[in-house]
Amino acid sequence: MGQLLDGKLVAASLKEETLQQANELREKGIVPKLTIVRVGAQPSDLAYERGALKRMAACNIDVEVKELDAEITQEDFVKELKAVNEDPATHGILIFRPLPKQLDENAIQYVIAPEKDVDCFSPINVAKMNVGDKTGLTPCTPTAVMEILRHYEINPTGKDCVVIGASNVVGRPVFELLLNEMATVTICHIETKDSSKWARQAEILVVGVGVPRLVKENWVSEGTIVVDVGINVDKEGKMCGDVDFDNIVDKASMITPVPGGVGSVTTSVLAKHVVKACKQQNGL
Ligand code: NAD
Repeated sequence: MGQLLDGKLVAASLKEETLQQANELREKGIVPKLTIVRVGAQPSDLAYERGALKRMAACNIDVEVKELDAEITQEDFVKELKAVNEDPATHGILIFRPLPKQLDENAIQYVIAPEKDVDCFSPINVAKMNVGDKTGLTPCTPTAVMEILRHYEINPTGKDCVVIGASNVVGRPVFELLLNEMATVTICHIETKDSSKWARQAEILVVGVGVPRLVKENWVSEGTIVVDVGINVDKEGKMCGDVDFDNIVDKASMITPVPGGVGSVTTSVLAKHVVKACKQQNGL
């Protein structure tokens, strides 16, 4: 059986690092703070928010939730966001996306202050990630993939990596982050003729497609390291990933479970980014 890549362990170790840094900041009289901007009350946003609040508390980071009316206009949203940008007590800003239809994300991405943009919404941070500029802030979920690799001392340098899924929030940033580590990266998407052909060549396979158990046993070669970003609910109402875990676990050398894999690490990365942003804003 392949070794489980345990997201909870990775999250706990990140939490320790971040808590220590947050405490050091507090000793200097600086209180790291995240402001969450939530429009309306989508159940998925509320679930993520609960996890984020718990994680920030565990890391000794202050949090404020700015709840905005689901019907808010573009003009009012921009005004609210600019106020958070300018709030000196806030070091990190997380905006739940997708935003409601009346709000223009293409315009709003240019409004969030890049130095406070802890989930890489701003094109400035996207560009910094794409050129490997470490002063930027990378997106939390793709960074959670990299943190899992780091924790288990899996060095992607020179490895054949395959990413299945090419969304702007998961697949593409994972591609860039792996490339920054000098991996040889192939990315597959819905128009790829045969994703399984590429997947079989992977030493490290990262999957984020949103299709329950898309990746079957015959997609994976013996010894592949498999990281599953997917979070789905199957027909039986059971939570599952984009990888057919039960039939792959014996073939993979290492594999993330769902739940308990990438999803467990995301809020710890968020906390780490708040502290990083806080330090940078204070010239530390
Ligand atoms: P998306 O729908 O925006 O993008 C899916 C991508 O997969 C697209 O690039 C599409 O071309 C590709 N794709 C779809 N079907 C495919 C197929 N049959 N073969 C090859 N490529 C295919 O989804 P997303 O927002 O990127 O999310 C992907 C998954 O990651 C979902 O299960 C989502 O729930 C999960 N997710 C998890 C976290 C986390 O914290 N763990 C965060 C965000 C998303």
